[in-house]
Amino acid sequence: MKTYYAGQDVDAPCGRCGGETRHQVLTATDGVPDRLICGNCRSVHKYRAAKPEPLARSPRLPAAAKTGGARPNSLTAQFLESLVREQGGALARPYRVSETWAEGAWMDHPTFGLGRVQRRLGKKVDVLFRDGLKTLVSA
Ligand SMILES: [Zn+2]
Repeated sequence: MKTYYAGQDVDAPCGRCGGETRHQVLTATDGVPDRLICGNCRSVHKYRAAKPEPLARSPRLPAAAKTGGARPNSLTAQFLESLVREQGGALARPYRVSETWAEGAWMDHPTFGLGRVQRRLGKKVDVLFRDGLKTLVSA
């Protein structure tokens, strides 16, 4: 079971943004986040389970946004994902804390899937996954 601590970055669904966004844990009890702040809209809300449920569309959205707006989770996303699998999948190494991760390296993470190292900072690397940017430990 994954534990969380205050100050940690976590991806969670944000009601205001209407999707999964990068949050920072404000308070946590026994490794379970209580309150998060959304890095996108800066709203503070209670932690909800990681899997965003298919929410009913927000009634606040103007009608035009429903029909005319871009749908990022559509074909484009599927296309990008298959691209990542084909290109990155061949190069990816399974993620291990003991591995050294260079910028540009592909990794296959047991939780996040395929990702690519964007930035290396000391013993940490920022890796871009389908779910967003994660900070991981690197040797
Ligand atoms: Zn938000």
